Amino acid sequence: MNLNYDVIIIGAGPAGLTSAIYLGRSKIKTLVIEKVAVGGKLLVIDNLENYPGFPDGINGFELASKLDAQSKKFGAEFIFEEVIDIKKINDIFEVSTTNNKYNAKIVVIASGSTYRHLNVEGEQKLLGKGVSFCATCDGAFFKEQVVAVVGGGNSALEEALFLTRFAREVYIIHRRDEFRAVKVLQDRIRSNSKIKIVLNSIVTKICGENKVESVIINNVKDNKKTELKVDGIFIAIGQKPNTDFCKNLLKLDEKGYIITNEFLETSVPGIYAIGDVRDTKLRQVATAVGDGAYIFAKIEEYLKEKI
Ligand code: NAP
Repeated sequence: MNLNYDVIIIGAGPAGLTSAIYLGRSKIKTLVIEKVAVGGKLLVIDNLENYPGFPDGINGFELASKLDAQSKKFGAEFIFEEVIDIKKINDIFEVSTTNNKYNAKIVVIASGSTYRHLNVEGEQKLLGKGVSFCATCDGAFFKEQVVAVVGGGNSALEEALFLTRFAREVYIIHRRDEFRAVKVLQDRIRSNSKIKIVLNSIVTKICGENKVESVIINNVKDNKKTELKVDGIFIAIGQKPNTDFCKNLLKLDEKGYIITNEFLETSVPGIYAIGDVRDTKLRQVATAVGDGAYIFAKIEEYLKEKI
């Protein structure tokens, strides 16, 4: 087993990175285990408009790089492996990855969430060939083309607006007759001449041999099917929490989010959950950062009690 840490943070998104800054600055020996890349979902945000302190917004990648540099400056260590299990053995947590085992007195789960899929024919086959979950990453491939965005939340509307920079026409396909996105975004999509809104409709099939050519849409009111010619489809129908590795250890809610109390403690003492992975009402970069800072005080208390 690898050397001991005071704290292992699982996930290097804004929540995990903020904790790493606070803990490192307090000389608490901290390991951050990240599966993909530092920054988490920040990496796919083109312009973060509602993060305090940046009146013109800030690019997500830029903010991630700054958080990364700041946490390393204060001594946090990083490894890039996938966590598959956590065990509590005599008051010490053993965190297993696909390659190694690490142990620590405290575990902070900041593993965030991943994009929900439509689970329709063609989605998997045409992934990367016109099917995308990230307009910021792939939008530029659709210059002067026609694309569709599925969903009615903030993400879908933001993606649609972003895509108007490149695409000739952007359809927003939403399953109900009203959006759940905030009003300011609804106003912006309605006043954008490139955006066409298709309500009460679900995508039932994505068609194309080697690339997306069209989507089949079913109107849920009159059950009418139509084929819409598009070059790409961006799916923005929410997220699912990354909790597979702890689902047998911790109490989760019905959607799989980790249940925490007001102190961000989970059902297992010594394990905290922060950011998008926990059962919270609001999932924003600002709230994730707030969680990351908040648990610092709880961790100091817990470590003092254990000494
Ligand atoms: P969301 O708010 O959960 O919205 C998901 C949308 O997808 C809903 O409109 C939902 O329809 C639709 N949907 C879900 N499953 C579907 C399916 N199988 N087929 C078709 N449509 C489906 O998710 P989100 O937009 O990704 O946002 C996630 C969180 O991040 C939210 O808390 C949001 O406020 C936050 N966020 C904030 C910002 C910002 O403040 N700038 C930007 C992006 C995201 P129904 O409405 O019918 O349920």
